[in-house]
Amino acid sequence: MLKWKFGDTTITQLIELKDDSGSVPVLPDATPENLATIPWLKPHFVTPDGKLILNIQMMIIETPDRKMVVDTCIGNDKTLALEAWANMQRPFIDNLKKLGHDPDSIDTVICTHLHVDHVGWNTRKVNGKWVPTFKNARYVMVESEFNHWQHHQDDFGPVFQESVQPVFEAGLVDLVKPDHQVGSGVWFEPTPGHTPGHVSVHIASKGEEAIITGDMMHHPCQIARPDWVTPFDNDSPAAMSTRQAFLERYADKPVTVFGTHFADPVCGKIVKDGKTFRFAV
Ligand SMILES: [Zn+2]
Repeated sequence: MLKWKFGDTTITQLIELKDDSGSVPVLPDATPENLATIPWLKPHFVTPDGKLILNIQMMIIETPDRKMVVDTCIGNDKTLALEAWANMQRPFIDNLKKLGHDPDSIDTVICTHLHVDHVGWNTRKVNGKWVPTFKNARYVMVESEFNHWQHHQDDFGPVFQESVQPVFEAGLVDLVKPDHQVGSGVWFEPTPGHTPGHVSVHIASKGEEAIITGDMMHHPCQIARPDWVTPFDNDSPAAMSTRQAFLERYADKPVTVFGTHFADPVCGKIVKDGKTFRFAV
């Protein structure tokens, strides 16, 4: 697992799974032929035969006074339509403990949005019942995002019922605005479109800055082709203009960008590249 330092803040990756099977059609425009026009994607982000490499991963943010996790992946035992993700039995929490983090030591759980692969470990199944995995944490969610998914079923299954409702009923959820300051040096940046209340997470410490995208981008190919959209967008035109504005905002700036689904090395800098952009890792 990779680890980075920004001033006094540490970011650590915890991977739930890596996927280079192409089984989830996340970006239909990202065909082997189209990907071949973006040569810098190899070797880290595209396989030799032209398939996307994606991680499902959680980020652990340690500031001097807080321990947060961002996006809790898919989870175990979930009722999901996608066979590869349904009823998984992975040692994710054991791996978290091996990194030195007991779930009870986490004080904040951040969900960039409430899709299936970002809320899973919010809960775990104990004696047939969904209970909060991080029982001492506040779960921070954007209010408009929460309200949307309360009334819309996720295509993948009963995600809200299994992974969001139980932490809400346990009184652990803080519903916040999309520019919320989560803690000292950690705040939300609104990046709507993929979902209505989608946010990215900005981190700053001692003059060093990083940002975790969430699903504002799924794969570095969208840095070169911000118009490549996913069928899982709630509002693709909005997602596209949010992505374009983000790339313009951070191009050639000393801000390290972490893609929530980007394969290792996960982070890099946005660099202007003619009329578009590339990812410098
Ligand atoms: Zn996702």
